[in-house]
Amino acid sequence: MFKKILIANRGEIACRVIKTARKMGIQTVAVYSDADANALHVKLADEAIHIGESPATKSYLLGDKIIAAAQKTGAEAIHPGYGFLSENADFCRACEKAGVVFIGPNVKAIETMGSKSAAKQAMEQANVPLVPGYHGLNQGPSRLKNEASDIGYPVLLKAVAGGGGKGMRVVNQESEFQDALDAAKRESKAAFGDDAMLIEKYLTQPRHVEIQVFCDTLGNAVYLFERDCSLQRRHQKVIEEAPAPNMSLSLRQKMGEAAVACARTIGYVGAGTVEFLLDKDDSFYFMEMNTRLQVEHPVTELITGQDLVQWQLLVANGQPLPMQQEQLTIKGHAFEARIYAEDAENNFLPSTGTLSYLLAPEESEHVRVDTGVEQGDEISMYYDPMIAKLIVWDQNRDAALGRLAQALKKYRVRGVKTNIDFLYNLAICPPFVEADLDTNFIEKHADLIF
Ligand code: ADP
Repeated sequence: MFKKILIANRGEIACRVIKTARKMGIQTVAVYSDADANALHVKLADEAIHIGESPATKSYLLGDKIIAAAQKTGAEAIHPGYGFLSENADFCRACEKAGVVFIGPNVKAIETMGSKSAAKQAMEQANVPLVPGYHGLNQGPSRLKNEASDIGYPVLLKAVAGGGGKGMRVVNQESEFQDALDAAKRESKAAFGDDAMLIEKYLTQPRHVEIQVFCDTLGNAVYLFERDCSLQRRHQKVIEEAPAPNMSLSLRQKMGEAAVACARTIGYVGAGTVEFLLDKDDSFYFMEMNTRLQVEHPVTELITGQDLVQWQLLVANGQPLPMQQEQLTIKGHAFEARIYAEDAENNFLPSTGTLSYLLAPEESEHVRVDTGVEQGDEISMYYDPMIAKLIVWDQNRDAALGRLAQALKKYRVRGVKTNIDFLYNLAICPPFVEADLDTNFIEKHADLIF
């Protein structure tokens, strides 16, 4: 096993990776920016290297500096976490060239899945069902408009290079098409430096169900069941759960096997997530594959009893997957709520400031808190304003949801505004308790939640 790894990230995910590395007897190197000089991930790591100024473009996105830090400290591998360089093919290539192991998939898989169009082409060949749509190279506006009419309104415009819900527009009728296209292109260009678009049929009441997959370098591949991430605001996940409610065993198996087929088609290695839209009639469609560990991986860990970071490290080290498909089982139910420093009463704008008081619920077999901040820390404007992920587990969905409400009620944060009350209202909202889920849930039930 590696003796030392570097974590090219910050916040809760850096702390999360350090925890498992320590458990496995692996030394850790943190990297940090000016703003993070006293951050928790720096304190937890065995060594820490300063890599630059506070803006991520001058620190956490500087691949060369991070690789140099790994070489200087003798770290044999780099864990990229999520965000930042985690799905950056150039960074993965540079690691390879420098002789440092990138803890993640190979360059080709990152490239294929980094383009929503290339991903769809690959999946089409593997006979994985796609949402009806257009993902061709011809980007002429009249061609796109014709394609939209053929698909039938409403349609969804998506940035080919997209992520984080950016560059997406629902178009309800043809007369709105041109304005929506212009706006989506503008947003995509600004966010990704690329304005190519694809078009999908807009499903009106789908669920977002994603499958955790894992592959090793020896040809083994398994799925660790699904997560339901239908509770979203502006196409961004708010509360996730595992397993997905109301899934028949046969649908679970069918989706799991489809996800493994996706991974195998592109010669995938490591942790990956295949995202599907699931329609009311149980038909499901490939949306995209995320080639990294996801924010919401803990719910999968709690229902399977597995440590996914440990799996990543074993696979990156060339070892076989710790378990085969038949050995994996689901026990109980888990939820994750993303606790953010944001003003739920003011359009969820980020709320910056010092965490003058911070009291998380006590951790137990039922409650887990993944965080990268402590009382006295600053939530700055430089990074994602996440305070923590609150993860709960119990024997069944009702009991787990009860735990979530209880734990949210106990959470105390002062100094910044938070979304905790909003999350609590969601946790006790009757249609959520009844698992009547779709991706428009929050909009649809706004009167019960706000
Ligand atoms: P991003 O990569 O920007 O997060 P995704 O393609 O993963 O974008 O989609 C994000 C969310 O948008 C999905 O979880 C779902 O709620 C919604 N969505 C995406 N495609 C469709 C579609 N064709 N119909 C309805 N909703 C969709």
